[in-house]
Amino acid sequence: MSFQNTISFARELDSKDPLRRFRNKFFIPRHNGKDCIYLTGNSLGLQAKTTSQYVQQELDDWATMGVEAHFKEKNPWMPYHESFPKLLSKIVGCKETEVVVMNQLTVNLHLLMVTFYRPTKMRYKIICEAKAFPSDQYAFESQVKYHGFDPAGAVIEISPKEGEHTIRTDDILSAIQQHGESIALILFGGVNYYTGQVFDMSAITEAAQRAGAFCGFDLAHAAGNVELKMHEWNVDFACWCSYKYLNSGPGGVGGVYIHEKHATNTHLPRFAGWWGYTKETRFKMEKGFEAIPTAEGWQISNAPVLSLAAHKASLDIFEEAGIDNLHEKRKLLSGYLHYLLNDINSRQAEKVLEIITPADEKERGCQVSMLMLKRGKEIFNELTNQGVIADWREPNVIRVAPVPLYNSFEDVWRFGDILHSLID
Ligand SMILES: *Cc1c(COP(=O)(O)O)cnc(C)c1O
Repeated sequence: MSFQNTISFARELDSKDPLRRFRNKFFIPRHNGKDCIYLTGNSLGLQAKTTSQYVQQELDDWATMGVEAHFKEKNPWMPYHESFPKLLSKIVGCKETEVVVMNQLTVNLHLLMVTFYRPTKMRYKIICEAKAFPSDQYAFESQVKYHGFDPAGAVIEISPKEGEHTIRTDDILSAIQQHGESIALILFGGVNYYTGQVFDMSAITEAAQRAGAFCGFDLAHAAGNVELKMHEWNVDFACWCSYKYLNSGPGGVGGVYIHEKHATNTHLPRFAGWWGYTKETRFKMEKGFEAIPTAEGWQISNAPVLSLAAHKASLDIFEEAGIDNLHEKRKLLSGYLHYLLNDINSRQAEKVLEIITPADEKERGCQVSMLMLKRGKEIFNELTNQGVIADWREPNVIRVAPVPLYNSFEDVWRFGDILHSLID
């Protein structure tokens, strides 16, 4: 599509947008009496207007039924989490038996490493991206130490080439080949949180398995953002949080995918708890753990129903909008944003910002990361003053992520317009 840098063009795109009515299903934060331009759905997704109803329902049932609400007629708590795989399997691309909602992201990362990172003297390395999200770095470091290895030699980070910002797939694949039989686990983000780069998950998984290693992905910035085919790509496991693109609210419950070839293997080592125990006999409360032969077999505690209720409110909206439709709009929205930023740059005598997110549509999702070449922090602060909610990352990167559920093309244009006026 050939874009134009005018508000009328942006409004025309909005009028043709089949998902435009979904914006009204969310609360948009306000600034000086007007809607903010909210571009941080990659950090904390907005609240659906139905969220309070979903949560209130469970509070009411708790008030009126107490413990009996575990077996009530509407949304009984006992199997409450069981309605999620149907919705989440479409978002991460897997079978329903391969997904479970539980705990939170970093906790799940540790639990999955208990199963999938079991280093030996020969095979002990973890291959990951340089500049992985800090929590993931700490998880790798502490797991490696826990098993008695030195992170300096056991955690291998793949970096961009000198002078580049994103990591070349070829460099990832050749590192995997080079470290070969010493690799226990390959664990990348699906999308890097800093640059917004989408990794080639299919190619990385294939190379990992050729090297005889397990391969997992942290989908925090990928779930609800980009197309995912966990099962088809043969990924061993993945985990994600639900409060970013999936709008479940601060600290919302996390999600886990485990390929069925592992999920059905009840002998795989894990940290167990009663909620992972075979349902038919769980309440006999007997000795000897017997795992559910699905991803549910990794559950430890009973499900956090209030947090799940908030998550469900948003997932029902995803279902109504249709994940494929969301991907269509996402491509157009981020395409428009890239066009506007390039247009702003071309109007200046000197380049004022550098987009460090890949230009190739297959290598990016909603997020665009801009390296500010001068006055970065000042421009960021002024954006905030003018009602743009974006995100600042040291030393000088501004991240923005228009999301297809509630951002409009006009949001994107207005952001570009304000940014342009601040740069001029
Ligand atoms: C947001 C994010 C986290 C946060 O972890 P929590 O356990 O949810 O606090 C971890 N890893 C990545 C890659 C993230 O993007």
